[in-house]
Amino acid sequence: MTILVTGGAGYIGSHTIIELHKANHEVIVVDDLSNSSKESLKRVEEISGKQVKFYNFSVLNKDKLKGIFKTNKIDTVIHFAAFKAVGESVAFPLKYYHNNISGTVTLLEVMSEFNVKNIVFSSSATVYGDPARVPIDESFALSVTNPYGRTKLMMEEILQDVYRADNKWNIVILRYFNPVGAHKSGRIGEDPNGIPNNLMPFISQVAVGKLKELAVFGDDYNTVDGTGVRDYIHVVDLAYGHVSALKKITDNSGLNIYNLGTGKGYSVLETLHAFEAACGKKLKYKVAPRRAGDIASCYALPDKAKRELDWQATRNMEEMCIDAWRWQTNNPEGYKSGK
Ligand code: UDP
Repeated sequence: MTILVTGGAGYIGSHTIIELHKANHEVIVVDDLSNSSKESLKRVEEISGKQVKFYNFSVLNKDKLKGIFKTNKIDTVIHFAAFKAVGESVAFPLKYYHNNISGTVTLLEVMSEFNVKNIVFSSSATVYGDPARVPIDESFALSVTNPYGRTKLMMEEILQDVYRADNKWNIVILRYFNPVGAHKSGRIGEDPNGIPNNLMPFISQVAVGKLKELAVFGDDYNTVDGTGVRDYIHVVDLAYGHVSALKKITDNSGLNIYNLGTGKGYSVLETLHAFEAACGKKLKYKVAPRRAGDIASCYALPDKAKRELDWQATRNMEEMCIDAWRWQTNNPEGYKSGK
C-alpha cells in the first residue's frame, strides 16, 4: 500500500516508516519540520534502503496537500503531525488549536475530497486524564487537563463524528502510553528541542553530562516508592503497532480504538535505576515538588490490541534504556551531531 505519513520526520513517525518499509509499504511524508529535521528521513532511508518521497509543508496548507493526493495514489494516511508540548500548550493554546485541530480538519477534508477514507490517528493516554484506577482500558471515561490533551481528545471526537456521518471511513485511533527508546542502529531517536520535558530524554541528557541532575517531581504519590508511575513503551514496538493497525484498516472494520502500552508501570526512580544499569553510571537526582497536572499512576491494559490487532510490546525496560543510551551517546546533540 502507499501510506501518507504526516509528521513522518518526527520521533514516532521516523521509527514507524522503517517498520512500514519492512512490511513492503510505499511511504510518502508530509512534514513542516517545525519540531523535526530532514536528517531523520535521510537516516531512515539509509537504514531501510528505501526511498521516502518527502513534501516539506504543513498539513494546514490545503492547496499543497491536495497536490499530494493529485499526484500520488494514497491508500491510507497515518496522521502524526501535531504539536505535543504540554507546558507550551498552556501558554499558547491557540497555537495548539490552530495547528492540531485545523490541521486535522484540513487533512480530513482533503482525504474526503479524494475519497481516501482510511486513517490511523496518533492519540495519547493523556485522554484518560486522572484515571479512576489502573490498568486503563479503552472504555474508561475521558477527560483532559491541558490544551494539548484537549486537542487530542477533540481530534478523536472529530474522527468519531466523521465516521458517524459516513461509515465508509476506516479509522484506527491509537492511544500511546509513554514512548521511549530508539532504533537499534543508534541512528534515529528522540531529539527534543531545548531542555526535555519528558523523563527518559531528561535522564539521557544527565547521563551524557549535558544536564546536572534529574529533578524527581514528587515522592509522595501513592505508588511503590512515592514517585510517579508510567507505562513506558519502546518506540519500535509502538511503530510496529501502526503496521498492525493498517491490517485492521484493510479489513474494513470501521472505527476502532486501541491502547498501545506494555501493561507494566515503572516509577520515576525505577526508570532512573534501569537507565543507570544501561549506562553503567550512577546518576544524580534530587526530589522536587510535584509537577502541576501530573497524576500518580498511568498504565495500560493492552489486551484489546493483542486480541484484535495481534500486537503486543515485546521490548522491556532494559532494552528501552540501552537503546535510548546508544542513541544519546552516538548523537549527543541529536540530529545536529551530524553524520
Ligand atoms: N518526571 C520527573 N522529572 C522530569 C520529567 C518527568 O520526575 O524531569 C516524572 C513525571 O512527574 C512523571 C514521569 O516522570 O511521573 C513521566 O513524565 P513524562 O513527562 O515523561 O510523561 P507524562 O507525565 O506525560 O506521562
